[in-house]
Amino acid sequence: MSTAGTWSAPGRVNLIGDHTDYNGGFALPFALPQRTTVTATRREDRTVVARSVGQEEPVEFEVPGSAGAVTGWGAYVAGVAWALAEAGIEVPGAELAIESDVPLGAGLSSSHSLECSVGLALTGLAGVDIDRTELARIVQRAENEYAGSPTGLLDQMAILHSREHHLSFFDARALTVEPVACDPGADGLELLVIDSNAPHELVDGAYAARRTACEAAAARLGVETLREVDDVDAALEALADDPETQRRARHVLTENQRVLDAVALVRAGRLPEIGTLLTQSHVSMRDDFENSVPTVDLIVEKAVEAGALGARMTGGGFGGSVIALVPAERRSAVERAVTTSALGAGYAGPSYLAVEPSPGAGRDV
Ligand code: ADP
Ligand code: MG
Repeated sequence: MSTAGTWSAPGRVNLIGDHTDYNGGFALPFALPQRTTVTATRREDRTVVARSVGQEEPVEFEVPGSAGAVTGWGAYVAGVAWALAEAGIEVPGAELAIESDVPLGAGLSSSHSLECSVGLALTGLAGVDIDRTELARIVQRAENEYAGSPTGLLDQMAILHSREHHLSFFDARALTVEPVACDPGADGLELLVIDSNAPHELVDGAYAARRTACEAAAARLGVETLREVDDVDAALEALADDPETQRRARHVLTENQRVLDAVALVRAGRLPEIGTLLTQSHVSMRDDFENSVPTVDLIVEKAVEAGALGARMTGGGFGGSVIALVPAERRSAVERAVTTSALGAGYAGPSYLAVEPSPGAGRDV
């Protein structure tokens, strides 16, 4: 048991493999250098008081609490305390001082970086050495049942299991993460996150609708999840009478294969060649999964035109960020071209972050 300490958890970006996690499939995220840090001190009572730089109001609640009792940003903190208690962990009262440089609401999972760092801090104060995958599930309960977002396990698994200089090959059915060494600099490449700054609209409803479509496709095919499909062509043929469901399924089924192909290329030291897969993945989201928006499509198109080897929307979609694989000497040209086109089309100016695969969550002090 600790009376005080500091824990932190990164944001994440998904290089490839979106909307595959809740279908039992594959993804290839990595941890960002940007992190949420929680400095925690144990209290003698069972009150948690959390303050976050940039949020005016502190949050105060009693543990264990009940689902949904705290709203706003505090829901992510109270949700984790509640879900930990539901899992049988004796959550202590605590003072939490939170600071983060993960951009909020940009599709880089600031909410999960907050939840994972709070989860590590509260279990650390409780003296519980929690299994990382179990914590990922607990955080999922906090997001799903407390904060009300129907998200899968990808983000928490990436945040909790990633390693520096490695991508995290995630298998959502086996619930495993395999590190895949990746050094873009050795190939003269950079991983560039482009935040569209486009407003998110109807995200939760649209996300839920996509989940439902995937479940309907699996039910039609007589499998538990789309991961169980072996013969992709036969499955798509079987869905031909329902073109929308067929398109949704085609995204998931082809995306799983693109992740496997990307992992094989990175392992073979052929990182530049994944560029084509990234752009194909974007086209699949744009046309089949229909979870992109025109701002993001324009950013992808202009980034590739200006010299990116590939680019795709990353995360849940309907806005958010793009990840691009860019030769270092083309980076400023890509940024110029993307900003000029976005502003010219009347969209917000995008923001840029050059990122590297960074360490996962852990105790700092
Ligand atoms: P994303 O996770 O992609 O950044 P979300 O909408 O899921 O976007 O989560 C963003 C929300 O998470 C913020 O509006 C805020 O409520 C909460 N949040 C994230 N990081 C922090 C932080 N450091 N302090 C307080 N609240 C945060
Ligand atoms: Mg989030």
